[in-house]
Amino acid sequence: MLVDSHCHLNFPELSQNIEAVRTAMVESQVGHALCVSVTLDKVHEVLALAEAYDNFYASVGVHPDYEDIEEPTVEVLVKLAEHAKVVAIGETGLDYFRLTGDLAWQRERFRTHIRAAIIANKPLIIHTRSAAEDTIRIMREERAELVGGVMHCFTESLEVALQAIELGFYISFSGIVTFKNAGQLKEVAKAIPLNRILVETDSPYLAPIPFRGKTNQPAYVRYTALEIAQLRGIELEEVMQATTDNFFRLFADAVPCN
Ligand SMILES: [Zn+2]
Ligand SMILES: [Zn+2]
Repeated sequence: MLVDSHCHLNFPELSQNIEAVRTAMVESQVGHALCVSVTLDKVHEVLALAEAYDNFYASVGVHPDYEDIEEPTVEVLVKLAEHAKVVAIGETGLDYFRLTGDLAWQRERFRTHIRAAIIANKPLIIHTRSAAEDTIRIMREERAELVGGVMHCFTESLEVALQAIELGFYISFSGIVTFKNAGQLKEVAKAIPLNRILVETDSPYLAPIPFRGKTNQPAYVRYTALEIAQLRGIELEEVMQATTDNFFRLFADAVPCN
């Protein structure tokens, strides 16, 4: 069995086709999916999915790419995290690629999420893009190692991956690892320990080859797992087992339902 450790099933491309999405999951042996929040005003949609289906879990958080929206406080995040299907805080982090200028607010928002995760005792889902140095620095300053978490849709260097692993974090690969021009990332997927690897789709975005450019969905996480198996010279079955075990070890509040 596989788990899609990061997807956005409340986005209309997927939520309007949820039964087809779920059927495809079964056919691809994707047993569970973690539905990740990106803004507070849509948290209820993510929670509703996790309430409606046993094998969906939820996270609560505000993505670093959204400016001029309702800013989360530690108290609000901790309160939302009390929901029985919430297994993580995020996605949070830093993104200096999409946004430029003075991003002090983004770093402050990131610190808020780490503080909430420590109080709620839930792992973090971290998004980092063109901001690895500050991301790792803030993780260290705020003691993110107390709860651990995942560096989602990882695209950084091996050095950054190892720094995150040292802080007790897992590295999650998306469909990007299947792209032909992702040479450095393929090396990371070969080099880090298998017991630190998760797989995700980040759907509806970033469909793996052979669906690149199309709407992504949790079933396609299989192609990412297959790429990792081929890169490491091991069986797909071994990657499926390891990444699923890793998921339930990290997200300890997620109860497997089959
Ligand atoms: Zn992200
Ligand atoms: Zn995401």
